[in-house]
Amino acid sequence: MKKGKEKSFKTTCSYCGVGCGIIVQQDAKGKIRVEGDPEHPTNKGMLCSKGLNLHYVASDYSDRLLYPEMRWAKNQPRQRVSWDTALDRAAAVFKSIISKYGPDSVGFYISGQCLTEEYYVANKLAKGFLGTNNIDTNSRLCMSSAVVGYKMTLGEDAVPTCYDDIELADCFLIAGANPAWCHPIVFRRIEKHKEENPDVKIVVVDPRRTQTCALADLHLQINPGTDIVLYHAIARHLIEENLIDDAFLAQHTDGFATFREFVLQTSLEEAAVICDVSVADIKIAATYIGQAKGFISMWAMGLNQSVIGVDKNLALLNLSLITGQIGKPGAGPFSLTGQPNAMGGREVGGMANLLSAHRDLANPVHRQEVADYWGVPSVPAQPGLTATQLFEGLRDDKVKAVWIICTNPLVSMPDAGMIEEALKKARFVVVQDISGRSDTLQYADLVLPAAGWLEKEGTMTNSERRISYLNAVLPPPGEALPDVEILCRFAQKMQFPGFDYNSVGEIYEEHAGLTKGTNIDVSGLNYADLIEKQTIQWPVPVSGNAGTPRLFQDKKFYTPNQRAQIHTPASVVNQSEPLTGEFPLVLTTGRIRDQWHTMTKTGKVNKLNQHLSKPFIEINPIDAALRGINDGDTIEINSARGKVCVNAVLTTDIKTGVVFLPMHWGKILNRDFGRTNNLTNNLVDPKSKEPDFKYSAVQVQKYEKP
Ligand code: SF4
Repeated sequence: MKKGKEKSFKTTCSYCGVGCGIIVQQDAKGKIRVEGDPEHPTNKGMLCSKGLNLHYVASDYSDRLLYPEMRWAKNQPRQRVSWDTALDRAAAVFKSIISKYGPDSVGFYISGQCLTEEYYVANKLAKGFLGTNNIDTNSRLCMSSAVVGYKMTLGEDAVPTCYDDIELADCFLIAGANPAWCHPIVFRRIEKHKEENPDVKIVVVDPRRTQTCALADLHLQINPGTDIVLYHAIARHLIEENLIDDAFLAQHTDGFATFREFVLQTSLEEAAVICDVSVADIKIAATYIGQAKGFISMWAMGLNQSVIGVDKNLALLNLSLITGQIGKPGAGPFSLTGQPNAMGGREVGGMANLLSAHRDLANPVHRQEVADYWGVPSVPAQPGLTATQLFEGLRDDKVKAVWIICTNPLVSMPDAGMIEEALKKARFVVVQDISGRSDTLQYADLVLPAAGWLEKEGTMTNSERRISYLNAVLPPPGEALPDVEILCRFAQKMQFPGFDYNSVGEIYEEHAGLTKGTNIDVSGLNYADLIEKQTIQWPVPVSGNAGTPRLFQDKKFYTPNQRAQIHTPASVVNQSEPLTGEFPLVLTTGRIRDQWHTMTKTGKVNKLNQHLSKPFIEINPIDAALRGINDGDTIEINSARGKVCVNAVLTTDIKTGVVFLPMHWGKILNRDFGRTNNLTNNLVDPKSKEPDFKYSAVQVQKYEKP
């Protein structure tokens, strides 16, 4: 679309899973500016601070990777090389390692910021042609517990709700999430809805009093790790007060009798002590939920990033099921995704335990369907190594080569010391990225410069199953290439057929064809239609279909018997790292308003750095007084794995016995003072393999100069 000499394009924000629509204006000199798209159904013209500053990120090439670089031998400096030399070398090393040690000796670690087509090609390359399921993503750190919870309960990794349900609901339970800072446009929609409808009730569950609590009618400031006990106590009160939906339970669910018996074993008084909240507040929360016409639960990393993350998800999902609050307008569970395309990545099976189009990797028929579609004999049956396992494999020399795309694991993975050891020991590390700011680059044997936002086209899927088209409107700087082109060129160097696509649209349509007949069917949406519509929610099984805003309106779930499954956990006891005399405090980590992940993009925007310019630790004044710590003091935080030094912020917003560190700053940005993930442990949920970022045992003390 043209406006005089200006050009105007529609696209989608590249940060969080809200997936806001953006209009990019480019003037005659090529300078760009951004504004919210008033016609986009998600954000209706609004953008948060990160989205509003995307033009700085897109226009600043000062730190961009411009040319392939390669080390000819370990410990030698990298040198600029041509794309051919770089990819010849990558192919030679991968071939050599695979022929000597087998396909599972290599792996890919990619990102929820990759576009769906990039995910598709990487997944096809690894599983179909290299012969390994060792392809995992940083979405493992974000959403995998929710995915398992949805599958066990609803039979499918499928968010039932949509953002338009926000304005139709009259009760929200926001658990382990701070949307005011981390999903700001969702929060603004809730805020506006409550302003216009003061009777709307909002309950927040969080060990911290976050900015989201400002909107809450009730904040349940629970002890970390006690979420399941709380949800069971709420369920008990709903059952005892007959605020459940008996007809829905009888007609559309299994498992309620066992669940009922289990939750009635713990009194509200016992639960209140375990969670450190009052019985009265548990009853108020239950009453709000039970009396709601439309009840929505929203959650994020506070539930997912836990060693019992799946069980926390199941317990929360049960509240929607026992009240019949699903499959109708203004109701349902609604996980808030951290990354812009975590869902799109799962659609193409781009994780170590997944298969394309939500097929089951354990099912030989499903594997053969995919293999036949790709024209290969088979897809490996054995699940690949998940994020933490992949790096443990590198450390233990079981995995020899790793290809890292669009993510900075040296800062973002738990137990950063172990990740550093793994990258040092790896025989061959490829880093494909846009930014020279990534700490992980220092261990790269091969650096491949990628195109960034506005420089490549493709699709992403946001938290409400909304597929959006992203336009390529700027040329990549230097010799940077779109990620999908890099992967296809590598596949061709490996002499693999099926990677000679003429356009991104061909890749999208190949993926869409593979979804035909599945629950996430988008075979009715061709690429040209998607470009015209810009955005639509899956499934779209038939051409001309308007998409599917809301699932399960017919109350037929995706389980084999079409009934939702109410699961009763074997135990509600937290399995996190135990606190000890040496490490008596719980460390929980999280995000701040204006930074994104490891700050490789937001960290270069002055406006965003002004909000909170340095890393810090939140500590309760009682815990601080016990250690002689004053506000602003430099504090040393120790765990069994490492150390971090930051300034203290004394606040009653955090409970006694708990401290909070933001996760964004790495070793480079925080200089000698270390990264937050020096401290975290690599325990994972046994079902989802999602790490326990929200609970590590630490001690804090005033920093003494050596
Ligand atoms: Fe971007 Fe998320 Fe902000 Fe929307 S809420 S502008 S998607 S960062």
